[in-house]
Amino acid sequence: MLAKLKRISLGNWILIGMLLGAFVGLFLNFYVSNTFIKNVILVDNVFYLGGNLFIKLLKMLVVPLVFCSIVVGVSSISDIRKIGTIGGRTIFIYLITTALAVTIALGIGILIKPGLGLNMAGLGQASNVTMNQTMTDTLLNIVPDNPFTSLANGDMLPLILFGILVGIILAKLKQETQLINDIFTQGNKIMMEMTSIVMKFAPIGVFCLMARTFAGLGFEGMLPLGKYILCVLIGLAIQAFVVYPSLLVLFTRLNPIHFFKRFISVMFFAFSSSTSNATIPLNMESLEEMGVSREVSSFTIPLGATINMDGTAIMQGVAVMFAAQAYGIDLGTSALLTVIFTAVLASIGTAGVPSVGLVTLTMVFNSVGLPVAAIGIIFGIDHILDMFRTAVNVTGDAICTLIVSFKNKSLDVDLFNEKKPFKKT
Ligand code: ASP
Repeated sequence: MLAKLKRISLGNWILIGMLLGAFVGLFLNFYVSNTFIKNVILVDNVFYLGGNLFIKLLKMLVVPLVFCSIVVGVSSISDIRKIGTIGGRTIFIYLITTALAVTIALGIGILIKPGLGLNMAGLGQASNVTMNQTMTDTLLNIVPDNPFTSLANGDMLPLILFGILVGIILAKLKQETQLINDIFTQGNKIMMEMTSIVMKFAPIGVFCLMARTFAGLGFEGMLPLGKYILCVLIGLAIQAFVVYPSLLVLFTRLNPIHFFKRFISVMFFAFSSSTSNATIPLNMESLEEMGVSREVSSFTIPLGATINMDGTAIMQGVAVMFAAQAYGIDLGTSALLTVIFTAVLASIGTAGVPSVGLVTLTMVFNSVGLPVAAIGIIFGIDHILDMFRTAVNVTGDAICTLIVSFKNKSLDVDLFNEKKPFKKT
């Protein structure tokens, strides 16, 4: 029996933890009325502690792991021009897939009309979501005022830029800076080992996160917004299961079903945690097992977790149509184009942590003059959608990484085709 349990892969344990957590959460939600046991002991203490402890452990890894692996990844690229090619391709694919995602969402919104005939008064209109940062600020903030402050605050874009610069210079100076290069290489090894150890707790962490979410989920609030939720889910499904597989086949001829089999546990993890950032270590490891070189994934995955949010863009596209229809505002073609443009920018500005997509949504609403108050209406049910869209966000990063790696001729296709689920960590 024990031997059999030991043979279950980590990916499957994560799935088991997730399903069990959802089941326990729903059971508590519907069948346990004793609020002391349910809320005070379990939800607010045991599950809160287990879930957040795990997320905190992952967050602890992100900055040193990302920084070391970007420096090592970039410095190991012998030809400096290659960095430009990898970077250019990656950013191009990220922007295109996000623009495609918003377009799909707007199309679904136009077809299904999620906001039509909604009784706005009955839903309440309070919104406490604000977004102060402009797009110019977001672009300027890519350059750190002080790299150490960025490291300390975990600001991803400046951190990535500084890491790339250090990596390029290490590659250029070679022998002269061998010691620093070795320090980063060994630092990277330490962080990867630490990731493997922390990931062993993933099934328990995921169980607690899911149990807590499902125990507190208010299903009543979802009914009037059913069409909105449905539209977002359809958009996410199209992006994940039509757009991404098509891109993978088109550019690499790799088998998408095989990809999903090996990647599914990373999606589950993103789903349970609702954060792309915390999923970075797992995403990088799983891609490495699929034959992607660290040279590529160390750069594309942290960058993707920061600027590529296709799932978030889909939610934003549907939310725009929902609000416009609910308030009876007619959006013309130029307004829709503005939405596509600003949603792509918002995706760059959205940090890979829970619920930030709603904050950057204010920017998209403002760009076409929609009342920001409407965001308050979808606020209550956003958590569950955040889970789904984060799973799509990380899948987009992985697909793009595979394409870039393939085009870069650094993908080990035999390793990709191996028939095994994600197992290492
Ligand atoms: N939770 C999302 C992520 O981490 C961001 C968002 O849409 O709120 O990718």
